[in-house]
Amino acid sequence: MTPNRRDFLRSTAIAGSAMALAAESTASAAGEPEPWFDRPMRWAQLTLVEDDPGKYDLTFWLDYFKATHSDAACLSAGGCVAYYPTKIPLHYRSQWLGDTDPFGDLTAGCRKMKMVVIARTDPHAAHQDVYDAHPDWIAVDAEGNKRRHWAMPELWVTCALGPYNFEFMTKVTREIVSLYKVDGIFSNRWAGSGMCYCEHCRRNFRSAAGLDLPRTNDPRNPARRAYIEWRQQRLFELWSLWDTEIRKINPGARFIPNTGGGALSDLDMRAIGERAPILFADRQARRGLTPPWANGKNGKEYRATMGRKPIGGIFSVGVEEPYRWKDSVQNGPEIRLWALDGIANGLRPWFTKFSGTLHDRRWLPVVEDLYGWLFRNERYLRNEESLARIAMVYSQQTAWYYGGEHARAKVEDHTLGYYQALIEARIPFEMAHDRLLDAAHIARFKALIFPNIAALSGRQCDQIRDYVKSGGSIVASYETSLYDEWGVRRPDFGLADLFGASFAGRIDPRMQNSYLRLETDPATGQRHPILAGLGDAERIINGVSRVHTRTHGSYPNPPLTLIPSYPDLPMEEVYPRVPKTDIPELFVREYGAGRVVYFPWDVDRTFWEVLSPDHWKLLRNAVDWAANEPPPVTVTGPGTLDVAVWRQKDSMTAHLVNLTNPMMMKGPIREFLPVPPQEVRINLPQGSKARKVHLLVAGQTPHVRETAGAITLTIPSILDHEVIAIDL
Ligand SMILES: [Zn+2]
Repeated sequence: MTPNRRDFLRSTAIAGSAMALAAESTASAAGEPEPWFDRPMRWAQLTLVEDDPGKYDLTFWLDYFKATHSDAACLSAGGCVAYYPTKIPLHYRSQWLGDTDPFGDLTAGCRKMKMVVIARTDPHAAHQDVYDAHPDWIAVDAEGNKRRHWAMPELWVTCALGPYNFEFMTKVTREIVSLYKVDGIFSNRWAGSGMCYCEHCRRNFRSAAGLDLPRTNDPRNPARRAYIEWRQQRLFELWSLWDTEIRKINPGARFIPNTGGGALSDLDMRAIGERAPILFADRQARRGLTPPWANGKNGKEYRATMGRKPIGGIFSVGVEEPYRWKDSVQNGPEIRLWALDGIANGLRPWFTKFSGTLHDRRWLPVVEDLYGWLFRNERYLRNEESLARIAMVYSQQTAWYYGGEHARAKVEDHTLGYYQALIEARIPFEMAHDRLLDAAHIARFKALIFPNIAALSGRQCDQIRDYVKSGGSIVASYETSLYDEWGVRRPDFGLADLFGASFAGRIDPRMQNSYLRLETDPATGQRHPILAGLGDAERIINGVSRVHTRTHGSYPNPPLTLIPSYPDLPMEEVYPRVPKTDIPELFVREYGAGRVVYFPWDVDRTFWEVLSPDHWKLLRNAVDWAANEPPPVTVTGPGTLDVAVWRQKDSMTAHLVNLTNPMMMKGPIREFLPVPPQEVRINLPQGSKARKVHLLVAGQTPHVRETAGAITLTIPSILDHEVIAIDL
């Protein structure tokens, strides 16, 4: 770029934007501000880098926001680097800032297009002058050393729980909102970068908990447990502080932390869902072995506690791997599939680009094309509620207090296995949070899945019991309810009465070469419906870990029984020593008005590891049998599809995302491969008729047959996705 061009940009940049914005802001009008949260459907994020000021092309970006019909933007303002003329001492200005105001210019340009604007701050790193003036603001490691930044050692890592955030960043936050009247502050990496042993953390933790900071990650350690709770409390205090200060200046604005997730996330999602009017799921792309449905999963996890409130899905246009090629551009189909799976599962897309200077422009038409389609079909994407009848429970307390350092393997892998099984079964489902098992949150579901939800309080077990008594069904696996909410093992399952089985005091953590015998009920000559599709097999492989159980009363014909481990070498010795036992490996029963399925082994986790089709059938059939009703949508045909079903104001939609691809389990995908025709049956909401049915991607009106409250149609082909929209 030539100096002339730079000068031109500088002179045409909107000057004095702060004053103009304050006058323009709708939120500063008298009376109750009109909440903006539900308005944006397409988010744009430009994360500036330090040398962008004077170099990035303002007009280009504003034009691109317009071309993509983006109706909201997140723009870099301050924290680590200020992109506006800050007056706060120690608030580091970009060395390229000069007398420009790129944040103000971008904000003013977006406002002219009536876009919502939130300002991005990032407090996690600070410069040397901050260290020199306030060494106590810097994070300290377990050995007592102040922490240099891991990626850029000239910088220092800040303590999130001390005065750097509570005092300094509060001033920064106030200044940004005062000057630009933004609609919110979105803070990245605001919650710290690991355990901090600074003087403030030591003192504050001691006065709150009466203990020294823990030096172990073992959640059974009392200090560690207290720390997990205290840290959250401190972060929620920070959230409240920033939110209060922001609203004093602009009542319509909010603090929006970059936070949240599934079982492995570290802030209580129930508490987050109570206070956040809007949130963004920050899972930018897949890496390593990540299936494309992981984006939709994130949407469901947020929705479990956010309910109807809007949730954005942040997707990156770059490669997301440990080597952090943050300046890269990802393959077009991969960007698209990742975003589409989030959209199908209720996320409002947010593209993020790092650096205002483009080194690779290939992503631009990909996002423009996707956002154009979203814009044209917006009315069918304003979802009111999911019509799924199945929900899978996730439990942060199980991950924190039972899983601890091994939560990924002990907790999340069970969830991932069941998730994959439901995707393959094309069953639309939601996620539910274990701290929201009250009727208001779960009564709309016909069945709940508990994939090794090990840590449950007595109250939670009571809620599950009430749910089943009143007609809900559950499917549970492995150590579900065997621990209390603090991860302390109980003498028996909290749900023993539902399972019809008690804990017999032993767990086999790793079975080698063990099998399951498929039993036939001698009275009927039939196998249980949960064994459907296994043909005439006499046995199938077992899982890896099992809980020993004691059956309550008589349980004469368990559908699956244990064939215990026997030698797997030398080959001459590989034959079952005990061909048949009466040890049940599947408990099925009716309880109250509901049904209960309990697998006392790690069927879901083993499925994630081994992906056996036999285990898949058990997982699918268990849900079908438990639900005991036809699913809201049935899609029949070859391939793997993520299926979601939604209700809007005057319509309903079924999203079918085509995941069929050799790169499904490990991206990036090279190209989309169309699936052959699919037969789709959709149940219409009670008492409604389909006025019109259209395919929003193919742009066609299909031939539809309507019978008994349902429609059926054939989708000739699906390339990346299809949305069946039904006007009601
Ligand atoms: Zn600290």
